[in-house]
Amino acid sequence: MRFLLPPTIVLTSILTLCQGQEASSQKQWYRGNTHTHSLWSDGNDFPDMITAWYVEAGYDFLALSDHNILSQGEKWMPVTKIQERRHTLGRTTLSKYQKHFGDSWVETRGEGDAQEVRLKNLPELKERFEKPGEFLLIQAEEITDSFEKVQIHINALNLEEVIPPQKGDSVRATMRNNLRAVKAQEERLGKPILTHINHPNFQWSLTAEDLAHVLEEQFFEVYNGHPAINHEGDPVRPGDERLWDIANTIRLHELQAPPLYGVATDDSHHYHGGDASPGRGWVMVHATELEADTLILAMREGAFYASSGVHFKELDYGTAQEAVRFVIDAQPGVVYETKIIGTDRTTPDKPGETLATISGPEVHYPLTGKELYVRATVTASKPHPNPSFRGQLQQAWTQPIGWKLP
Ligand SMILES: [Zn+2]
Ligand SMILES: [Zn+2]
Repeated sequence: MRFLLPPTIVLTSILTLCQGQEASSQKQWYRGNTHTHSLWSDGNDFPDMITAWYVEAGYDFLALSDHNILSQGEKWMPVTKIQERRHTLGRTTLSKYQKHFGDSWVETRGEGDAQEVRLKNLPELKERFEKPGEFLLIQAEEITDSFEKVQIHINALNLEEVIPPQKGDSVRATMRNNLRAVKAQEERLGKPILTHINHPNFQWSLTAEDLAHVLEEQFFEVYNGHPAINHEGDPVRPGDERLWDIANTIRLHELQAPPLYGVATDDSHHYHGGDASPGRGWVMVHATELEADTLILAMREGAFYASSGVHFKELDYGTAQEAVRFVIDAQPGVVYETKIIGTDRTTPDKPGETLATISGPEVHYPLTGKELYVRATVTASKPHPNPSFRGQLQQAWTQPIGWKLP
């Protein structure tokens, strides 16, 4: 029952041992988005239209993560309600759907203003879209909670039963109560459920200290493609990457706790152009098979990176790595710049300093042994094709390595 263990040095050293050629030759990189909304909550398209979009765009896995609901059972949606959705196409949303899938798949009832469409549930979507080794749907929920005005949204992937917002008497208690509810379901069902804390800067909700101190969590969104989540911060408040470095420095220096790993996601809501549209951020997971438990275990071991367009041909990962080493899958005419970022253990008051800047597709940065942790952000000269903020360039973020717990 390896997956029930918390991330420990034991696990990561097993991983490092498994990085031998035989083990890694059986692994593949799988591309997935773990944060997606549909008409099951506040998205503006049908779940099958959305899934078809991700299949067509070359993703290997997708988690439909609606707010406080799973796509289960029978749900009929009034067409008038679909027409009210933001950035919808009015009745064209339905006719697009009918044109794509045909009348034998699309189910409607009633006429005129009383017309309704049935939303396909996850078992139906799996039946239609899943192909072994090619495409996987993972059941998910965005547990959408709040404390006073603070928004606390946490994605849970691979759960089986909906988890209603658990509430709490402080921000951190609310976070913890939800994470503990997920953990309880994981233990009861005996299968791994991955959580990630979403968009900490949405309505400036979560601080680096909140992210640091809630040790029940191992993941957070270092990039989320929704344009309203203040990814870059503002002149007085840190952006998502800076929050990550501050939180991880607190974890490793003060709390002797493992750092957070960063995911990139879409948080897509709008599928007819503009605003919170799909295809902006994803994870690349190195795993032996395209299967939910396997992908989650790989992510818990740090065998993944976050991307908004930059990919690696080779990447060394795992806690015990003694160097940041990777080879970028370089595109013709594109220039790549890597920032090596870390915190010196003698100066924890200076979290997330840039230790080196390296140009080109091959990066090899040996650690000195003085670092609390080191990570890398790669930025391409190529603009993001569908930017969520002005001037966005394609990027990749590796996980913190070189950290040790006492
Ligand atoms: Zn959210
Ligand atoms: Zn969301």
